[in-house]
Amino acid sequence: MFTRQPLRFSLLLLVLTALVAATSLTTYQISQRMGLTELQTTGRHRLDLYTASLEREIGKYAYFPATLGLERDVLDVLTQADDPRRTAQANVYLERLNERAGTLAIYVINDQGTVRATSNWRRSDSYLGEDLAFRPYFREAMDTGSGRFFGIGTTRSEPGYYLSSALSDDSRTLGVAIVKVGLDQLEQSWSTVEAPVLVADENGVVILSSVPDWKFTTLRPLDEGTRKSFDRTQQYNRRALQPLGVREMGDLSQGARLVQLAKQPQEMVSAYPVAGNFLAQSQAMPGTPWTLTVFSHVKPVNEMSFIRASVAGVTTILLWILASMVYQRRRHLRDRLAAREALQKAHDELERKVEERTADLSCANQQLQDEVVERVRAERTLRAAQDELIQAGKLAVIGQLSAGIAHELNQPLAALRTLSGNAVRFLERGDDSTARSNLERIAQLVDRMGLITGQLKAFAHKSSGQARPVDICQVVTHAVAILDQRLRSSGAEVKMDFPDAALFALCDANRLEQVIVNLLSNALDAMVGHTRPGLEIHGTTQGSMLRLTVRDHGVGLSAEVLARLFEPFFTTKEAGVGLGLGLVISAGIVSDFGGTLSGANHPDGGAVFTLDIPLATPAP
Ligand code: ADP
Repeated sequence: MFTRQPLRFSLLLLVLTALVAATSLTTYQISQRMGLTELQTTGRHRLDLYTASLEREIGKYAYFPATLGLERDVLDVLTQADDPRRTAQANVYLERLNERAGTLAIYVINDQGTVRATSNWRRSDSYLGEDLAFRPYFREAMDTGSGRFFGIGTTRSEPGYYLSSALSDDSRTLGVAIVKVGLDQLEQSWSTVEAPVLVADENGVVILSSVPDWKFTTLRPLDEGTRKSFDRTQQYNRRALQPLGVREMGDLSQGARLVQLAKQPQEMVSAYPVAGNFLAQSQAMPGTPWTLTVFSHVKPVNEMSFIRASVAGVTTILLWILASMVYQRRRHLRDRLAAREALQKAHDELERKVEERTADLSCANQQLQDEVVERVRAERTLRAAQDELIQAGKLAVIGQLSAGIAHELNQPLAALRTLSGNAVRFLERGDDSTARSNLERIAQLVDRMGLITGQLKAFAHKSSGQARPVDICQVVTHAVAILDQRLRSSGAEVKMDFPDAALFALCDANRLEQVIVNLLSNALDAMVGHTRPGLEIHGTTQGSMLRLTVRDHGVGLSAEVLARLFEPFFTTKEAGVGLGLGLVISAGIVSDFGGTLSGANHPDGGAVFTLDIPLATPAP
């Protein structure tokens, strides 16, 4: 199964392949067309050059046979055939001429076709006396005055170009003079050719070629009539004419053709390739029935086209890669820009939110601060009020106690007056020991008075409000001591029940003492007039709390009193005696300690107040 990415990659690869193929193919075709056009131009130049060279070479001999008619000795062998001396003279003349001209043979035939004089008269295979009436060049010259013929010699099988010219006197044609030019001479002009070139006669037989092996091959198949004609004229002296093996591939403009030359069986020694694909260009030789053909090798054009196509393909790939890189880079930049923009946007949004939240927060913070300040202020006010109330409560208790205190102090004061007066008198009498014992008694009384006033001072003192472990038994004992005079005057019996191990509560000793004094004071008030007054103070633990109960044997709490017990300024006492703040303040103090204060009726009569305060680990 394809995922999106590989599919896209395959498609891109396909497009790239198609693009490279199209570019390479187009380049190849254009390059080949251009190369062939160039090759055609070069070929045309060569064709013109070779044709002109060959024409010039043939032209050299064109008037040669005709000039023989000017020679008396030559004409004489035709007119006086039976004179051997004249024949010999003519032979020698032709022999010298032949040597000087570098031709193959020069000979003269009479009007019957018999050779009357020849340059090769010395050779055993001399033409002399031979009947050459069948040779076309003879017939042509006899009929038209001159003849051209390419053929192979009948005696020595030597190929050559025959130029013939009729020799005549004033009245009639006496015979024909023939000059046979060798192929080497004609081909001399092609010594420097750069491409294969050939000349074919009207029958398509290659008569001249820069490639030796091509000579006497045929460009096209010979029909039966032509073959018979060759037999008759012995034009090619019965030589086997094999086909050259030219395969036509296609026609181009201006008569040029693409041909394929079959590989020769044996490797030919040649300066240029002679097999493969060629551009063939032909041109008729003026004044002859021949056609000159130049072959230009197409392989270099194909190779160059292939190289150009390859370069175009590689360039396409490189351009593609370059374009891909540019595209990727631009996309990358675009993505980065987009990412940066998104990031900036997110950052701005975040900043805006942070600003909003900060504003909200600072607003809330401000509100909170205001609230806290307000609360602190309220708390301070409350605490101040509470402190004031506590103080007022204390003063109220002190007021209640003042009568007792006054009585308590009056007694020692009276004793002090008596003792000090007696001490003076004992000193005057010289009874020092009695005076000393009086003074010691005075000191004891003063200590006792100091104790009372000290307790009152401590009670009235404003508390520090700091919680610390407090021995509950000590505080209760202290409170009982404060109320000592009232207890004694009421005749109430105090029973204290505490565990052996000291119980420590986490609170302020002074304020707890105030609470207990208040509870004991209320209990004493409730028991006024009762026959058997009594107080039971019990200390114990309840989990993490310390529980202290104060029970009296007084009137107890009526339903109304119970309902309004902790209501400020609720009192059943006479005006000036009770303020109705004692229990309210006591409950507030206990609540400050993290505890509770509650009141109830004891099943056996009287009221019982329960105090729960958190326990503390004993102070070290
Ligand atoms: P005050 O003692 O100034 O009246 P408190 O708040 O201490 O103020 O007491 C309020 C009232 O509760 C008292 O007036 C009294 O009626 C009642 N009360 C308090 N303690 C006792 C008690 N032990 N027995 C009976 N009544 C009590």
